[in-house]
Amino acid sequence: MYMKYNCNLYGIKGSASMEFMQKADEMRKNGEQVLSLAGGEPDFNTPHKICEAAAEALKLGDTHYAVGKGILPLRVKIAEKMRKENGIECTEEEVILTPGGKFGIYMAIFTLINPGDEVIVFTPSWVSYIPMIEACGGCAVPIELDYHNNYMLEEAEIKKRITDKTKAIIINYPNNPTGRILSWEEAEILVRIVEKYNLFIISDEVYEKIVFDNRTSISIGSFSSIRDKVITVNGFSKAFAMTGWRLGYTVAAREITEMMYKLYVHTITGTSPFIQRAALKAFECEAEVQNMVMEYERRRNFFVKELNKIEGITCRMPEGAFYAWVRFDTDKSSEEVAAMLLAQTGIVGVPGSSYGEENETCMRFSFACTMEVLEEAVRKMKRIQF
Ligand code: PLP
Repeated sequence: MYMKYNCNLYGIKGSASMEFMQKADEMRKNGEQVLSLAGGEPDFNTPHKICEAAAEALKLGDTHYAVGKGILPLRVKIAEKMRKENGIECTEEEVILTPGGKFGIYMAIFTLINPGDEVIVFTPSWVSYIPMIEACGGCAVPIELDYHNNYMLEEAEIKKRITDKTKAIIINYPNNPTGRILSWEEAEILVRIVEKYNLFIISDEVYEKIVFDNRTSISIGSFSSIRDKVITVNGFSKAFAMTGWRLGYTVAAREITEMMYKLYVHTITGTSPFIQRAALKAFECEAEVQNMVMEYERRRNFFVKELNKIEGITCRMPEGAFYAWVRFDTDKSSEEVAAMLLAQTGIVGVPGSSYGEENETCMRFSFACTMEVLEEAVRKMKRIQF
């Protein structure tokens, strides 16, 4: 049958969080009062020294193609960070700089998937994994995690969904939208499964630095027995408030990296050299990152505590990332609740169904916004009639 466009693209939906961010913008332009808690980006500016380094690199004319996997000093820094902070044994030859973590995830999926291969995604999940798998001709296998079990991975449930077509599992910790981080027990489940069924893991760790209550995030690639089966994806967007710079990276065994590089070199060539130069300064921004995380934690503490005081609303303390995953005790769907909230209060959040949560009525609200916005949101939510 003649298909005008790539058949993999027909069923793909837009990004829900982007849609809601745009909606908030439109409403604002029309003079309506909106409180946007839909976005997925830090409200802080990029640390000054990173901006200055970019300006300096531009002045010096660092504006040509950056050929290769990324500039060497940055790849060396990232490999060192991965060894020291994440416990992942790797060299700079196993690092590729990508335009955002997002392209790294796409490149990883594209590299692993043949038509019809199955990829396990745990839901609720970030909105882009399933569309990316489908765009690559793969078949997404969502495994619904249970709200009442705090979205813990369950070995038996995962095993039930593995077939001879299962190729990979995508994980994301700290998690968007639930705010969970991976426990040791869950990491061990994943290691056992990868070993037993010879699978790959794509581990999206873009929120790695945003963890609370002195927690640390576990990198699954640090388990040496499966090191060569893991593609770790990370980036500068969330930790360093650099969403608009579009810089991320992948870390994977040499063989996988060389395969990914084939796609990379023929699609994006490389990321901007002056942005990579600036990103080197990110490794000197520990204090700035710590300040941002402390502020997220302060907002989280306030927001979650206040939300839980509202009848019919429950919210667990997120362990990482900057989202409150809020459950509404109602028969209404999450889209209906989102529409009601918007109409009655002007609050914009993202309905849980966008993340694949079908059993509970949940919504995601970002607390990467000012305290004033959160205070106002809480005041307004208290008045809502469900
Ligand atoms: N992964 C998750 C879970 C995200 O929430 C996002 C952004 O919202 C990304 C990856 C992509 O981030 P970036 O491409 O800006 O590095």
